Amino acid sequence: MLSPAVISQNSHLLQLDAISTAEESRRPLFGLDGEALAGLMTGMGEPVWRARQLAEALYRQRVISIEGMTTLPVALRRRLVAEGWEVGRPRILQTYVSSDGTERYLVQCQAPQAQTGTTGDRPVAAAVEAVETVWMPEGDEGEAGDGSEPEEAGKSWQRATICVSSQVGCAVNCQFCLTARLGLQRNLTAGEIAGQVVDVLDRHGVEVGKDRVNLVFMGMGEPFLNYDNFMAAVRLLVKEVGISPQRMTVSTSGIVLGIERFAAEPADVRPKLAISLNAPNDAIRSEVMPINRKWPIDAVVDAVRKVRLRPRERVTFEYVLLGGVTDRPEHAAEVARLVRRTGLPVKVNLIAWNPGPGVPYATPKPDAVEAFKRVLVAERVPVYLRKPRGRDIYAACGQLKRTVEG
Ligand code: SAH
Ligand code: SF4
Repeated sequence: MLSPAVISQNSHLLQLDAISTAEESRRPLFGLDGEALAGLMTGMGEPVWRARQLAEALYRQRVISIEGMTTLPVALRRRLVAEGWEVGRPRILQTYVSSDGTERYLVQCQAPQAQTGTTGDRPVAAAVEAVETVWMPEGDEGEAGDGSEPEEAGKSWQRATICVSSQVGCAVNCQFCLTARLGLQRNLTAGEIAGQVVDVLDRHGVEVGKDRVNLVFMGMGEPFLNYDNFMAAVRLLVKEVGISPQRMTVSTSGIVLGIERFAAEPADVRPKLAISLNAPNDAIRSEVMPINRKWPIDAVVDAVRKVRLRPRERVTFEYVLLGGVTDRPEHAAEVARLVRRTGLPVKVNLIAWNPGPGVPYATPKPDAVEAFKRVLVAERVPVYLRKPRGRDIYAACGQLKRTVEG
């Protein structure tokens, strides 16, 4: 497991790999969509309907080896293996279980044979090629008010939320965020993003279509700075895995070009949108989120207005409360005015800042959090307080700590 020291020792290796996506040497099937699988099958002289069997095995049966694809003829399975194909789904390397049921996973994003040695003359820094994924049975109230409240009893959980990473590290540099400290190591591929979800569904025996599962793209990374892979993962999760985009929420720090592209996505594959507001005005936001200097609040809101919301859909504004910096009652009043000014159907999700070593902020006092919420309630702004889940295992989404991996 990694300590920060290991990360910094290996950072020169990581830089070599920066921005690249998959290892060229492997041929993972996981991540290919229906069309790509059809191309593969016809290219091998197989009937095109074999692609459906492959997709079923990868995304519905969650098979982890080509040998295990028993719907395919043995000869085809052998040929696929001989030609260098493998399932190549990311693996859960490590699991941390919280007393509140939250689980945090370190997910390996490389195919097993690529973990050691070199790729050409390029050393593979396999140890740090991991991202974090979180399972929150009963969610964290961040989904409250979105129509996904539980209706029926069943498993030990009635509604679970999976928090998914989109990049290794992040380039955005929000001052309060630990992921920012890593810088951007690389983009995840579509298969690596969707694979985190399938890994966790598998671990918990989730029956998609029957069990209530929400996805939040709020783990490590900025999804809208890995737009194509992120959306390709969403399409896989909708079309192949079978999860409704209305059960998915993508959070962005306010990448305007990404929001504009997102606004043009067809509704049948468009998740709901959350904006990390995190400050009551441009002056404070530019301090805590330097990206605000490039795309200030009004520019972000203008882009959000281009999204054609579904009936009853709301845009979420995420608001991390930083003690003494963004948690005063006057800030709450300003947030209320700001969200009203947008004219959008919104809700505000408050989350108390989770501390991290070397990050120069303070956790807000519980009284301040309550007072902040009360102001918004009084202003009739729909507001939800996200529960800190898995505090004992440092599992807060977006705060995903490399530092505890010792
Ligand atoms: N990059 C995207 C998604 C990942 S961050 C974004 O910024 O929106 C997901 C959420 O976690 C964001 O709303 C972010 O503001 C929040 N976050 C980051 N660090 C945090 C911390 N230490 N405590 C609480 N929330 C944090
Ligand atoms: Fe990146 Fe989001 Fe963290 Fe900002 S809050 S550094 S955008 S992961």
